Amino acid sequence: MKKVGIIGAGIAGLSVAIRSAIDGNDVHVYESNDYPGGKLSEIRLGNYRFDAGPSLFTLPELVDDLFKLAGEKPSDHFQYDRLEKLCRYFYEDGLQLTAFADPQAFGKEITDKLHIPSDRLLKGLAKSAQLYDLLADLFMYKSIHRASTFLSKKALCAYPNMHKLNFLKTMHEANIALYKHPALVQLFDRYATYNGSDPYQTPATMNIIPHLEYHLGAYAPKGGMISITQSLFELAQRKGVHFHFKQKVTQIIVQQKKAIGIVSNDERHFFDQVISNMDVVNTYQKLLPQIPAPERLLKQPKSSSALIFYWGINRSFEELDVHNIFFSKNYKEEFNHIFHQKKTYADPTIYVNISSKYTPGDAPIGSENWFTMINVPHNEGQDWNQLIYEARNNIIDKLSRLLQTDIRPHIVEEDYLDPRRIEARTSSFGGALYGNSSNNKFSAFLRHANYSSKIKNLYFCGGSVHPGGGIPLSILSGKLAHEFMSE
Ligand code: FAD
Repeated sequence: MKKVGIIGAGIAGLSVAIRSAIDGNDVHVYESNDYPGGKLSEIRLGNYRFDAGPSLFTLPELVDDLFKLAGEKPSDHFQYDRLEKLCRYFYEDGLQLTAFADPQAFGKEITDKLHIPSDRLLKGLAKSAQLYDLLADLFMYKSIHRASTFLSKKALCAYPNMHKLNFLKTMHEANIALYKHPALVQLFDRYATYNGSDPYQTPATMNIIPHLEYHLGAYAPKGGMISITQSLFELAQRKGVHFHFKQKVTQIIVQQKKAIGIVSNDERHFFDQVISNMDVVNTYQKLLPQIPAPERLLKQPKSSSALIFYWGINRSFEELDVHNIFFSKNYKEEFNHIFHQKKTYADPTIYVNISSKYTPGDAPIGSENWFTMINVPHNEGQDWNQLIYEARNNIIDKLSRLLQTDIRPHIVEEDYLDPRRIEARTSSFGGALYGNSSNNKFSAFLRHANYSSKIKNLYFCGGSVHPGGGIPLSILSGKLAHEFMSE
């Protein structure tokens, strides 16, 4: 039995903790907050409940797998429904599109509203499926830091098809070629934001993402996104994982190039293996200041962050669904502001998630809980108070205009989350949502591995390391870290 110390109870920390405890190890998780889940947590305002961070759930089988590994039936502890409508899109020219999860139904929608053949959509989605087929195994489910990954049967079959990956095009260029109509191009360009990137820079391989929603499905967990955290936290406890809350780790103890423990609240704790679920930049800068860091990896450009207003709304809007997008008129300029000028944009694309549409208890009867988010740069010392003030007015004006209702008087509860708060609550560098951005074609290779090549017995998991951010990839990072720990 090994004694295992994990820094952070984010979704990746929970994933590795459960796996390691199932092996029979003595697992201890140190978490600076007084709750598990990190970004995947919740807040309550009056009679309204909000998922604090993620709202879109794909690849639920990765959560199920953890229950199965533990010998439990997933649906006894965690349940979810597949969404029939992925998102409702609102454009500045009055166009409204409903993205149905069924590609045929969505095809009919674009034929009816945009007068373009549904074949165009189906071909684009087939391309997305092809990318997933070629890349998922190599870049998501396996470690790219093992030679065997690139010598596997799957990899050898993929090489002759690599020319289909469109490595040299950006996502936007590929989408123009695939979808042609500006409304559809903008809709599919938005998938770059699913990992905090810029469609005008990120490679066309990121067109892998729509396949997840249109073919594999987008899901709504029963009880809200928080039930992912809650059910895995309870599973970890059933497997004997010890959680230590309000324990901020301030140092990883290294002796003779070996991680042997951590310091938390001025106490030393010794372990056979140490795993950091803390953002990798902050792990090196704050917990390992004496150790030479892999500067090239750590200095990669960061993903976008987010500004969220949690609004309790005292009425309901029939024209809105669970996921809603209100697009900016000039998408290129919006991304230019976020990634080059590092500012907010006056006409932002607004995402409104309303979980009370499927979990009525999340808001009082006849009311709705609006998670209203715009993409913003990560924190580099901008004047956030001013930017938040401006963004709030811009968002309210835009939503009021497009919904033809002044929403201001309907906001009866309010709180916000900005890059500074994200960093303070989760230690994500600059409040970036997904660690590094994927704005260049080598970015997959420029994420830190799930182990340290310099310090024995030190491992990494979480959205800032391989294979990347988002709930599914963060869970997989825990799986990959566990595989290295088990060698
Ligand atoms: P985190 O959730 O950041 O957890 C890290 C944990 O480590 C935290 O609990 C932190 O307190 C703890 N910690 C850090 N340092 C220390 C220390 N020194 N000592 C002790 N504890 C420490 N993903 C999706 O899949 N779908 C979405 O719709 C989506 N939307 C998002 C919207 C927002 C607003 C945000 C913020 C994120 C969103 N994401 C989404 C991304 C997703 O939330 C993350 O990629 C994922 O939750 C990261 O999990 P993690 O375990 O890597 O890190």
